[in-house]
Amino acid sequence: MKKSIKEILAAKPIGQEVTVCGWVRTFRSNQFIAVSDGSCMQTMQVVVDHENTDPALLKRITTGSAVIATGTLIESMGKGQAVEVKARTIEVVGDADPDKYLLQPKKHSMEFLRDIAHMRIRTNTFGAVMRIRHALAYAIHHFFHERGFFYFHSPIITGSDAEGAGEMFKVTTLSLENTQKNKEGDVDFKKDFFGKATNLTVSGQLEAELAALALSRVYTFGPTFRAENSNTTRHLAEFWMIEPEVAFFDLKDNMDLAESMLKYVIAFALEHCADDIQFLKERQEQEESTKPQQERSTMDLITKLHFVVDNEFQRLKYEEAIQILINSTPNKKGKFQYPIEGWGTDLQSEHERYLVEKHFQKPVILTNYPKEIKAFYMRVDDDGRTVSAMDILFPSIGEIVGGSQREERLDVLTQRMEEMHIPLHEMDWYLDTRRFGTCPHAGFGLGFERLVLFVTGMTNIRDVIPFPRTPGNAEF
Ligand code: ATP
Ligand code: MN
Repeated sequence: MKKSIKEILAAKPIGQEVTVCGWVRTFRSNQFIAVSDGSCMQTMQVVVDHENTDPALLKRITTGSAVIATGTLIESMGKGQAVEVKARTIEVVGDADPDKYLLQPKKHSMEFLRDIAHMRIRTNTFGAVMRIRHALAYAIHHFFHERGFFYFHSPIITGSDAEGAGEMFKVTTLSLENTQKNKEGDVDFKKDFFGKATNLTVSGQLEAELAALALSRVYTFGPTFRAENSNTTRHLAEFWMIEPEVAFFDLKDNMDLAESMLKYVIAFALEHCADDIQFLKERQEQEESTKPQQERSTMDLITKLHFVVDNEFQRLKYEEAIQILINSTPNKKGKFQYPIEGWGTDLQSEHERYLVEKHFQKPVILTNYPKEIKAFYMRVDDDGRTVSAMDILFPSIGEIVGGSQREERLDVLTQRMEEMHIPLHEMDWYLDTRRFGTCPHAGFGLGFERLVLFVTGMTNIRDVIPFPRTPGNAEF
């Protein structure tokens, strides 16, 4: 296999012949080509040997063109790079028309780039984000594998519509023009591909619970779809979610697992993506400097990441959080868009961010929410008012993890489902876990893009996924 620029820079085989394959970033003084292959932040400088190079070829070396250059790796005299390739041969394998290629070496807005898929991914920023995204995914698998968890594949097309986590996308092969109706006048899903109505999954949790009650420790890591019309910088219609589920686990075990996983994967990125994170830190500092003083964040990206890795997360009950919020200055001064009325109020992002960024100034795990504002499968606490839920809140992001100890008692669970009008007969396959060898168990969902958002310090979740899907947008 040919060596990547990253590998060549790591090994530095001075005096030996190397081949560099990549895309031209810049071509200076008709002499120095900066080539990027995406393997790392750095480019490789290729120096043209004019005696052995056809001048016509040089015209084709433009920003964006694909080249293969072979020559000797030597120490570089110029500043900016330690080594360079003294080219013996240069081949242009793909031209990039300089009049049409938009990605000249200048700064483009994230919004502009979202519309130009092939260029977006060649920018320094997206390169860094995509490499960090990979490292985080790898670290997550590694973390679970080391701890005896099995990667479990929950279905993407689901026949259950009672997951309750959000609006679903329908999956059908029925004709939209003349849908067949049954006697009752409803769409006849018996004629549909699966013989029933199906949707894209909003969560793999319920299926993972079945697996946990057989394999003890499992996690899912797959695409998740929510047709909710939330046009925020934290929501996507298609995102990836990690959902561990563990048998014989209680709420505390669950919090410990989530906290150690977040710390592990962030520390992994700090160690293995240092150049990329450094680049994004500087990028963020530039962006911050354009904001008014009071809106600037007080911590730079690297400090913020270390802060999460090095500090214990603040754990507190919903009830305590409500007291803090009621007595908070923004609440008293009417600064919250949604005022805190008292026990039972669902927390909005502004409240979560107040707790994390202003009050505690560290990640917060909120537990024991009122059962009315949480899902049916969460375990009812002894007081009968709250459930063993936990949300992990991060600075700038708000909720990054949502989880709970699950209700393992069949009678309590079915009563909750009835109260919440969840069709019991459709959930028989799930309720069976509570009929045959039920046990205490717990798990959580981590939104992968929210994690990537946090680690990269990007501001919009659309810019940490290759092809963002949001209301009104499904380009490419
Ligand atoms: P939120 O209140 O932020 O909408 P949620 O309560 O709907 O979140 P859960 O159903 O608990 O979230 O999902 C688990 C995790 O998945 C969340 O903690 C979050 O990290 C992530 N998540 C949820 N919805 C989205 C989305 N639309 N886009 C990206 N990530 C999401
Ligand atoms: Mn939501």
